[in-house]
Amino acid sequence: MKRRDFIKNSTILAASVYMPIAKSAIHDQRATSLTGEEIILNKEDILDFMYGFQGSVISEGHYDYDKARLVWNGVWDRKPALIVYCDSVQDIQKAINFSRDQNLLTAVRSGGHSISGKSTCDGGIIIDLSRMRKTNIDLQRKLVTVDAGCTLYDLDSKTLPHGYVVPAGVVSHTGVAGLTLGGGIGSLMRMYGLTVDNLVSVDIVTADGILRKASLHENPDLFWGIRGGGGNFGIVTSFTYNLRPLPNGEIIVGVNLYDMKHAKDIWDFYYDYSEDMPNNIMLNAGMWNDNKTGKGHFFLGTLFVGEENKASKALEKITSFGKPTTDEVYKKRFIDHQQVADKRNAHHRNYYIKGRQIDEYKPKLTEELMDRWSYQEGRFDTMRVVRFGGAISEVAESGTPWVGRNAKWDIEVGGHWTNDAKTEEYTKWGRDYWKALSPHCAKRIYINELMDEDQKFVATSYGQNYGRLVKIKNKYDPQNLFSLNGNIKPTV
Ligand SMILES: Cc1cc2nc3c(=O)[nH]c(=O)nc-3n(C[C@H](O)[C@H](O)[C@H](O)COP(=O)(O)OP(=O)(O)OC[C@H]3O[C@@H](n4cnc5c(N)ncnc54)[C@H](O)[C@@H]3O)c2cc1C
Repeated sequence: MKRRDFIKNSTILAASVYMPIAKSAIHDQRATSLTGEEIILNKEDILDFMYGFQGSVISEGHYDYDKARLVWNGVWDRKPALIVYCDSVQDIQKAINFSRDQNLLTAVRSGGHSISGKSTCDGGIIIDLSRMRKTNIDLQRKLVTVDAGCTLYDLDSKTLPHGYVVPAGVVSHTGVAGLTLGGGIGSLMRMYGLTVDNLVSVDIVTADGILRKASLHENPDLFWGIRGGGGNFGIVTSFTYNLRPLPNGEIIVGVNLYDMKHAKDIWDFYYDYSEDMPNNIMLNAGMWNDNKTGKGHFFLGTLFVGEENKASKALEKITSFGKPTTDEVYKKRFIDHQQVADKRNAHHRNYYIKGRQIDEYKPKLTEELMDRWSYQEGRFDTMRVVRFGGAISEVAESGTPWVGRNAKWDIEVGGHWTNDAKTEEYTKWGRDYWKALSPHCAKRIYINELMDEDQKFVATSYGQNYGRLVKIKNKYDPQNLFSLNGNIKPTV
């Protein structure tokens, strides 16, 4: 079809999920450049870009614009110039070429769960992959391939019915793309490693618009970089993972709830016990304040992988600890377990959450945590500590960019609220909390738990791996088109 005919017919294309912009709605548009200056996107250039683009393009004034610009964390109320929903690899290439040629601030969105709002922006473009959700399982080769727009639920529902799993995160509506590229921690990581440790290859469009495969054998430098280096090098269009066994797709879970007055003793027990536990046991500890009653709760959450008749003995030390108000151990479908936290982490509320790794436990951390833990009406506070180690530590620090292979725990603390008027106050509360906790944690963050850290802290977090990441960035994205992430600054 000639561009002329495309423009004539553009209103006919309007039958997609998000209707594309009609010709009459396209005009020269103010936008933001990669370096933050105001630029003008020329109407002709936008039309050229739309020509042959199979997905949808949305800009301000479109009736779906306000819905299309929403991301998981409601704090990030951003107004991009364009939101483009890609339907194919060719669409992604077109979008990258357009953004690069226009020097346009570029955000990449798959599941939209970036806590720090990196998948949206003011005045730039959002390249959205959420419509690309094909999955394919190869039981012979024990591989699964998923498109970048898939959620963890899409991945789990493809593998678990066959008795296999890819270790990933713990909330089923999270996107596989951002989670994998940052590393991927979750309930099975002590047994099977991080999500990136199970990655076999990706298809990725780099900043030059070229589609490449990256694996141990093809573009191995790029493959190293994307296993923890986030979205710095290009847009991944699909991921292929090794399948790991999870017989019947089932696990044993244990739930112990305690009165908050025992918190200090439980924290002591938790850090002590979890330091040496076997790899097939995952033990999380955490607290939350019930926003209806104001009452605080302490939980120990256990996940055991193995034969059911061995579970009670294996978990005895945990289940018999202290005087829990609830104390249950039962068999469960992993796919159901993966959804228990979904509602607690619902979309579009306002969140301030972040994390840090812990190398050595310092009781002062618990002291600071407990001193500040209080109920605030209208804010739902949560926190948890998870044990790293196990299979994670079997990979060398330089094996992938993901650092913290020898960290022992990871702590996350935060809260959420729906009253927008409280955002400033509660963000300050979160920052102050973290000012008190940080000195007792490692000076390093899991890159997917970034909230408001600066680029210097990102570089520090990558530690000895940062220099190698910069070289890969210089090669595949010298212009820093992909800057909205835990950014690796190019030096060319
Ligand atoms: C409710 C919730 C639960 C979470 N639970 C876990 C957990 O259990 N384990 C864990 O490890 N993390 C967890 N996280 C953190 C999560 O890994 C990150 O927020 C991750 O970035 C989400 O990926 P996404 O695709 O949904 O995000 P998006 O917001 O779409 O993307 C985040 C960033 O990833 C990059 N990106 C996204 N898609 C692509 C792509 N196709 N190609 C290249 N770059 C891309 C971009 O830089 C983008 O800014 C959780 C987050 C939330 C909000």
